[in-house]
Amino acid sequence: MKVKDTLQGLTPYQPGKPVEEVKRELGLEKVVKLASNENPYGCSSNVKDAIQQAFSEVAVYPDGYAQRLRTKVADHVGVNEKQLMFGNGSDEVILMLCRAVLSKGDNIVTAAPTFPQYRHNAVIEGAEVKEVPLVNGEHDLDEMEKAIDANTKIVFVCNPNNPTGNYLGSESFYNFLKRVPKDVIVVSDEAYKEYVIAEDYPDTIPLIADHPNLIVLRTFSKAYGLASLRVGYGVGEEGLMQSLDPAREPFNTSSIGQLAAYNALDDQDFIEECKTKNRNGIEAFEAFCEKHNLHYYPSQGNFILMDLQIPGSEIFDALLKKGYIVRNGEALGFPTSVRITVGSEQQNKEMIEELTTLISR
Ligand SMILES: *Cc1c(COP(=O)(O)O)cnc(C)c1O
Repeated sequence: MKVKDTLQGLTPYQPGKPVEEVKRELGLEKVVKLASNENPYGCSSNVKDAIQQAFSEVAVYPDGYAQRLRTKVADHVGVNEKQLMFGNGSDEVILMLCRAVLSKGDNIVTAAPTFPQYRHNAVIEGAEVKEVPLVNGEHDLDEMEKAIDANTKIVFVCNPNNPTGNYLGSESFYNFLKRVPKDVIVVSDEAYKEYVIAEDYPDTIPLIADHPNLIVLRTFSKAYGLASLRVGYGVGEEGLMQSLDPAREPFNTSSIGQLAAYNALDDQDFIEECKTKNRNGIEAFEAFCEKHNLHYYPSQGNFILMDLQIPGSEIFDALLKKGYIVRNGEALGFPTSVRITVGSEQQNKEMIEELTTLISR
């Protein structure tokens, strides 16, 4: 018995350690997870009622086409319904896209370090991955353009980039998009869009009209606070999105997820509030770094990557003992850094105290 050769060098995704596991292993009462960029404020209170309603439907298969949510999202982002593809998280949209487009002999172009799922899914499909190093935490679009060749099928742009939090402005993005060959798909992964405050952050969806090779990814997992319900989507040109649809499982998003997302979208006040609180948190972490002369990347997301000049696994272990789960920079390509998700005001304050102790050991 043998699995595909393409799976040989891959490991399953290593998620942030679950809170319950850490409590059990270390005998801690209070554990705070600031590792997976989840929303510390949960989700909109609208969602709770919706989930209770959906309970009566659990025995019945969901609407795989997610018609009700589809109409809602189409209206929210200003496209027609057929331009959308829903996934079990935007992770699954990446998977479906790779599955639908890539074969052996093809390649994708990505930045490095960036979100690992582009590479992972491309490798499974037998494609080559051309990784272009970040410059100061930012995508090097000139080099990414040069990396495109006749076999390139997809270019992934992560904006803001995970794990650095850097973003691409609309001018850079647009100039890049114009230069990419028309038969190469450009993916703009905007998982943290709701947190962005930069005024020149690209408004990408309107560009699809003139650039049918552009696919924009969004998710309900981050600012909307629905990570466990797994709903994300892609937006693109109608013909392209419809041609990808056969790669989708028949019932890939759940009724509960769809209904929760529908209701979450209605509560834009919640999103605004989270955005403001998140920005205060980012500023607190930045002030800490400035004060102690630590390098950090300016983040437009809900996380910050800072260089403590201590091996990432040491930082991870030390904070874990105190009941804080963070992301070890070693696994992200930044060996002496840590990526911390912005928590509540209180959690940020406590985290900064722990970090202060850690760097003054
Ligand atoms: C979290 C994240 C996603 C995946 O989110 P889903 O939960 O699968 O919707 C996609 N891209 C980036 C850059 C992320 O950080």
